[in-house]
Amino acid sequence: MVSGDKPISIEMIDMSRNVFDNILGTIGDTPLVRLNRITASIDATVYAKVETFNPGNSIKDRMALRMIEDAERQGLLKPGGTIIEGTSGNTGMGLAIAAIVKGYKCIFTTTDKQSPEKVDALRAFGAEVIVCPTDVDPEDPRSYYSVSSRLVRETPNSWKANQYDNLSNSQAHYESTGPEIWEQTEGRIDHLVVGVGTGGTICGTGRYLKEKKPGVKIWGIDTYGSVFKKYKETGVFDKNEIYPYVTEGIGEDFLPQNVDFSVVDHFEKVTDRDAAIFTREIVKQEGIWAGNSAGSAIAGLLQLKDNFRKGETVVVIFHDHGTRYVGKMFNPQWMRMMGYETVEGPTARELVKNKRAAGLVSLETDATVDHAIRCMSENDFSQIPIAQNGRMVGSLSEAAVYAAVIRDPKIRTEPVKTLMQKPFRFVDIETPVSLLAPMITPEHPAVLVRDFPADRTYILTGYDVLKAL
Ligand code: PMP
Repeated sequence: MVSGDKPISIEMIDMSRNVFDNILGTIGDTPLVRLNRITASIDATVYAKVETFNPGNSIKDRMALRMIEDAERQGLLKPGGTIIEGTSGNTGMGLAIAAIVKGYKCIFTTTDKQSPEKVDALRAFGAEVIVCPTDVDPEDPRSYYSVSSRLVRETPNSWKANQYDNLSNSQAHYESTGPEIWEQTEGRIDHLVVGVGTGGTICGTGRYLKEKKPGVKIWGIDTYGSVFKKYKETGVFDKNEIYPYVTEGIGEDFLPQNVDFSVVDHFEKVTDRDAAIFTREIVKQEGIWAGNSAGSAIAGLLQLKDNFRKGETVVVIFHDHGTRYVGKMFNPQWMRMMGYETVEGPTARELVKNKRAAGLVSLETDATVDHAIRCMSENDFSQIPIAQNGRMVGSLSEAAVYAAVIRDPKIRTEPVKTLMQKPFRFVDIETPVSLLAPMITPEHPAVLVRDFPADRTYILTGYDVLKAL
């Protein structure tokens, strides 16, 4: 109120003029913005549903409020209660905003992969945040899923939102995101392209649109390292598909109940490198500051471009805001350190082209040191990756084995896990050699080069790089 003005009561205000009782009223009704440059190679007209206009700057505000209100109605969340959730940040933000307005406490568990900015933002909203390791099985007691479940058992008057299996999540999109897109396109939508994490956005929105127009095609964007695409195409939950990836917000290592595979027509995988590059391109070409999963969705859309015809309408969802990634994709040093910067010159693809196509030899954690020595000498390896249930958990170098056996010859019968060092880093096969070379150091004597579309992994050592230089 400007000093000297009369106080005004909310009843006097015309609520149709973008005036709300509290911030929760501003959730939804986000704009649809036509993309003009980044999609120039696509014949169809492409619109982005820009979800950064929600108060928490992400689409997850919609489902967070819906989960809370359904839990209140069902008597699961009571006055003064504590909301607990495993969240990568955006759902946490939606829950935290609603918790402030409605008077709840929040405790969130998240992973050490998430941008620190996201964690700081949640704390700014009064939430307690516990950061857990990323690279462990969901059933592991240290995982962010397990820690949040334990906290629910230990905290009186608490409720776990459980965005993965709580169907209020997809219902929120069935009731809001879907109808908005239908009305905004006046029913002309032909394709929906969406990054898939819990599956709430794609399945709720997709189900609504398919009910309205069964011919609408629903395209899910997945990451390499996630299980969705293989499960959709084969019905097999393949643990070998799982490995660490960088893209935030999408892909999973389990099957959430919000993913209804019958709604999604096709899953398209996008590499971390392309997702990062296109996150930056959206800003440069369209002036829209969206987050990492928007970059992934645009990269996927371009991979799929032959499916979109002239005269058709495509809608792609931009889930969250670029501010959450200023320390990552919008930080040039980070892009360089990850090998994502685009520079002229040869790439890792050229360095591995004469390597054995058989891919990668690795040892299981319980193989003996003796076995490792034999394997390294037979294959002429100076280092070898160590895996556990298909996950790369460590590595072993000739130098480390040599030093350990000299110290104590009995170590030869021990499992390699007693000697193992940090796992080798994965890099994309398109990484420029000039960015890859500094990644190989005495502490990190090799990198694993992934050719994602061909599903091949190669090991590259300093010697391989030297030969090429
Ligand atoms: N992008 C971002 C940035 C997200 O936070 C999420 C939620 N995990 C998604 C995409 C995927 O949305 P959904 O969980 O509805 O599948």
